[in-house]
Amino acid sequence: EKLNTSGLEIPKELENVIQLTTLDRIYNWSRRNSVWPMMFGLACCAIEMICTAASRYDLSRFGMEVMRPSPRQADVIIVSGTVTKKMVPQIVRLYNQMAEPKYVISMGACANGGGPFKEGYSVVPGIDKFLPVDVYIPGCPPTPQALLNGLITLQKKIDGESISKVRWYQKNVEEGIPIPV
Ligand code: SF4
Repeated sequence: EKLNTSGLEIPKELENVIQLTTLDRIYNWSRRNSVWPMMFGLACCAIEMICTAASRYDLSRFGMEVMRPSPRQADVIIVSGTVTKKMVPQIVRLYNQMAEPKYVISMGACANGGGPFKEGYSVVPGIDKFLPVDVYIPGCPPTPQALLNGLITLQKKIDGESISKVRWYQKNVEEGIPIPV
């Protein structure tokens, strides 16, 4: 991938040894291709999510095949399925344990808004009432292709971010902690 996005001209004799880019572009390029998901399957949608991780759909093309069971090692939580009131505290606790920068994908009609159970006493009308959702994937259930599309949408969102805007960076700056670059 061509990384010289600086707009500066490189002398011809140095073209093969120098590449110019921005810190944001390098930072986002590496992050977008290694977004490790934490699966959070709650109902039927989870079957499609698990299927997406199988060899047929080749998640490793996106650097996302490393599904983590631990929030400490995950960059995105995929909430797939029916979210009941009893499960909300556990989901929020896991999200809080993830390191910044972190993302949330809501997969399927139930996670998006309660789906066919939204009138039920035990189901919450969307995980976005409790977590900041970055990407919504429609469907009941969404196909593996739809989940892949959601992950690509997340990559595009990451492409548009700046290291100076991520929350851990701002927090470190405010507290005077050196930034590891
Ligand atoms: Fe099941 Fe449909 Fe709800 Fe997914 S959206 S968990 S497929 S009822």
